[in-house]
Amino acid sequence: MYKLETHMHTSQTSACASMTGEEQARRYKSLGYDGIIITDHFFNGNCYQHIKDCGDWETKVNMFTAGYEAAKAEGDRIGLDVFFGLEYCYCGADLLTYGIDKQWLIDHPECIEADVFDYCDMIHQAGGAIVHAHPFRQAGYLREIRLVPDKIDGVEVYNGGNAHMVYNDRAKFYAESFGFTMTGGSDSHHIYDNKLSGVLLSGNPKSIGDYVFDILNDNISGVIYPEDLNY
Ligand SMILES: [Zn+2]
Ligand SMILES: [Zn+2]
Repeated sequence: MYKLETHMHTSQTSACASMTGEEQARRYKSLGYDGIIITDHFFNGNCYQHIKDCGDWETKVNMFTAGYEAAKAEGDRIGLDVFFGLEYCYCGADLLTYGIDKQWLIDHPECIEADVFDYCDMIHQAGGAIVHAHPFRQAGYLREIRLVPDKIDGVEVYNGGNAHMVYNDRAKFYAESFGFTMTGGSDSHHIYDNKLSGVLLSGNPKSIGDYVFDILNDNISGVIYPEDLNY
């Protein structure tokens, strides 16, 4: 089975992360993963303020993708697949976005001005998929639980950053009730993040598009739980 991390951050881009893309790639390789998707916080989330403040769109996108590109270069060197994604923030609802690339972002500066519903439509028109990360997390920085069931394709039913397992249990109930594809993600930011997760795939994704296909066709073989990993 192909072992894929679906949700993680780098310190080049996410203000809350302390591991570089290179360090993340090396850690996941050593843990036996086959691939990782870098999902740094987008401009409406916790990406660095100097990136948010950059007035030139293309430069801003270049700064945003720096963590992914560093991880990708290291992954190519050590033999780990590294794919691009991002985590879009809608006032506390975090939407993992897969299937678009840097060029799409450069070509679509309006994606950050659009409301969340139009954003999701744009991603789907581009052939991408949206997975709601930790939809039932409760924490000091979150004031409410926001659900957008008409706009998502999958639900993260295990998130390593949730403080309590009941937040994952509620996400699983949500996914089962609506029939959403179920995924898992570590949400790893730091070397000490040890509740690692991800998904198992029966095939080898050649691109992020292959993983999008798996999400849209409910073709994920299983969710990885930390207790399944030997490290
Ligand atoms: Zn973060
Ligand atoms: Zn995250």
